Amino acid sequence: MPDLYIASIYDLDARALRARGIRGLIVDLDNTLVPWHGSETDEALRGWIRRLRDAGIEPCIVSNARSRRVEAVARQLDIPSVPWAAKPRRRAFRRAMERLGVNPAETAVLGDQLFTDILGAKRLGLYTILVVPVSQREMWWTRQVRRLERRVLAWMKRRGLLTGPVGGGGGAR
Ligand SMILES: [Mg+2]
Repeated sequence: MPDLYIASIYDLDARALRARGIRGLIVDLDNTLVPWHGSETDEALRGWIRRLRDAGIEPCIVSNARSRRVEAVARQLDIPSVPWAAKPRRRAFRRAMERLGVNPAETAVLGDQLFTDILGAKRLGLYTILVVPVSQREMWWTRQVRRLERRVLAWMKRRGLLTGPVGGGGGAR
């Protein structure tokens, strides 16, 4: 179960996150920061990174995608990245925490998939933030997994375990 469910990354309250003791934010790439398979950043996204840093939170991209595209985006945003992450495996999350110099209690994970981003983070006891995907387009396999994800999210909502998504998406995407 995610700790927080938001409509868009622009609905994330960086200062509130910092007030919880969070200093490092592990961020997914596809359908979280950019549309699936995208590699272009815009001023809105760069501003979002700046606001995170102003609040005292350092971001690191952790993506299952291959390195060339992940590194291209990370370079544009001037943040570290861990490609080929194989989420929900824990190794890449650990590597990102090392890069950021933070411990699990200081780390939050932001991503659009329950069974990769949120599950992997939960296995390490990290604070988790689920975000509504930026676009509907995704890999064939992901679309199959979404069917199960939708059922699980609906179940969580029925049980009162999940509210949201919070926010209006900020209108930026
Ligand atoms: Mg994703």
